[in-house]
Amino acid sequence: MTEQRRIRVLDPRLANQIAAGEVVERPASVVKELVENAIDAGSRRIEVELENGGTRSIRVRDDGSGIGEEDLPLSLSRHATSKIASLDELEGVASLGFRGEALASISSVSRLELISNIDDDPRSGWRVVAEGRQMEPRVSPAPHPRGTSVTVRDLFFNTPARRKFLRTEKTEFGHVEEAFRRQALSRFDIGWVLRHNQKTLHQLRPGDDMIARERRIAALLGRAFLDNALHLDLETGGLRLWGWVGLPTHSRAQADQQYFFVNGRVVRDRLVAHAIRQAYRDVLFHGRHPVFVLYLEVDPLVVDVNVHPTKHEVRFRDGRLVHDFLFSSLHRALGEARAGGREMPED
Ligand code: ADP
Ligand code: MG
Repeated sequence: MTEQRRIRVLDPRLANQIAAGEVVERPASVVKELVENAIDAGSRRIEVELENGGTRSIRVRDDGSGIGEEDLPLSLSRHATSKIASLDELEGVASLGFRGEALASISSVSRLELISNIDDDPRSGWRVVAEGRQMEPRVSPAPHPRGTSVTVRDLFFNTPARRKFLRTEKTEFGHVEEAFRRQALSRFDIGWVLRHNQKTLHQLRPGDDMIARERRIAALLGRAFLDNALHLDLETGGLRLWGWVGLPTHSRAQADQQYFFVNGRVVRDRLVAHAIRQAYRDVLFHGRHPVFVLYLEVDPLVVDVNVHPTKHEVRFRDGRLVHDFLFSSLHRALGEARAGGREMPED
């Protein structure tokens, strides 16, 4: 017979480690969370630096608002956020984060150091360190230019079962690069750097005009993507869709190079995927996948982003309306391309 055990409240570190399972799967998820924080802090420039695919270390440095001395220990606690304070704010949330869980989760399964400065004086700043289970982060002075640097070392060093799921350096780096690509595509107005093992792989200047945007698309997805894509920008009844869609002749065997953003957040959504598939149905060979980088802009109040911890899924208040708008916009753009004499496959 099994012995009856009493119910106990989990120790906070253990609770964080359990929660970490939802948001921290591999180095790429750490990069995603840290970069989202940098974006939410209003940064103009974000640098991501890794060693060994991120398994040895990940550093994200930004020039955003920074975190003040008193808030530093709090930034690592669970359910602590500066981004929302009420249900009303949750419903119209425009920031990428709001759950107050990422730093608590990450610091519970790694060696985390955060240095931040809210001042213009680069001689000021504070550091906080948290290492795995040992809680009560220590705060000490450390100079830093205005902004924040977060370094995450030895991911999963204290959770061997999770560590075993890490793949080779090359695979992990591939996932990080994909996360970086998505984020760099989400904000043209921010300058980005990606370094791996001391080598600079991407250095993207900020710029929000058409030339700068296309330069970035070409840098991240290749010149061929742009040369074979249509640009579109359509708006009706509070919905705007803009971006680039590949010509049917430029389809791919895999469903990679498909990027869909809702209010700056990358999402994978069945309704969206369905609308796009339908629009391409008559012009694409069976088993081929279109390429696209699309941005949907809607009132934050008509989309619920609090559906999943990683926020990759969203729920639209009026899904039908969004579906029809996407389908008809793409259908029209592809139809015009055909009428305009751009090459299409023969039936
Ligand atoms: P969330 O982003 O959901 O609020 P996080 O655990 O990711 O939760 O971050 C906790 C808090 O720490 C944020 O609400 C923010 O106030 C602060 N913070 C984290 N990273 C940064 C950063 N790079 N710049 C400024 N503030 C930050
Ligand atoms: Mg966050």
